[in-house]
Amino acid sequence: MIKYNLKCNNEHEFESWFSNSAEFDKLNNKNLLECIYCSSKKIKKSIMSPMISSSKNDYDQIEITNDQLKNEKNNLLKLRNFVEKNFDYVEKDFTKKVREIFYDKKSKRAIYGKATPEEKEELSEEGINLISIPWVNKNN
Ligand SMILES: [Zn+2]
Repeated sequence: MIKYNLKCNNEHEFESWFSNSAEFDKLNNKNLLECIYCSSKKIKKSIMSPMISSSKNDYDQIEITNDQLKNEKNNLLKLRNFVEKNFDYVEKDFTKKVREIFYDKKSKRAIYGKATPEEKEELSEEGINLISIPWVNKNN
């Protein structure tokens, strides 16, 4: 048995099983195949889905792992979006700004930026604790 993804001339896609590829050609040439949505008889093969039998378990496992990774990445993306939305980005003199905000209570606002491990160390000695978060790339 072979499964084909079929497509009609109205771009409807559906799946169908055939005993072999010749059967598909035969039925299609006789106009015996029709779209399950619009009954169009202009059907062509889309992408062929190979049957997965013996390696099914491995395959499922890989899929779960990918899904989990995707979830984790989505969480990181959400975190990044949250920070970008609620915090002001400070490109230059980040640690200087952090100190200003820390010592001058009037200008309290949420900021984010980059700090080197040494800068973090210095700040933490002054009682300013920065939170580091993984910064996930949006484009890959
Ligand atoms: Zn159709």
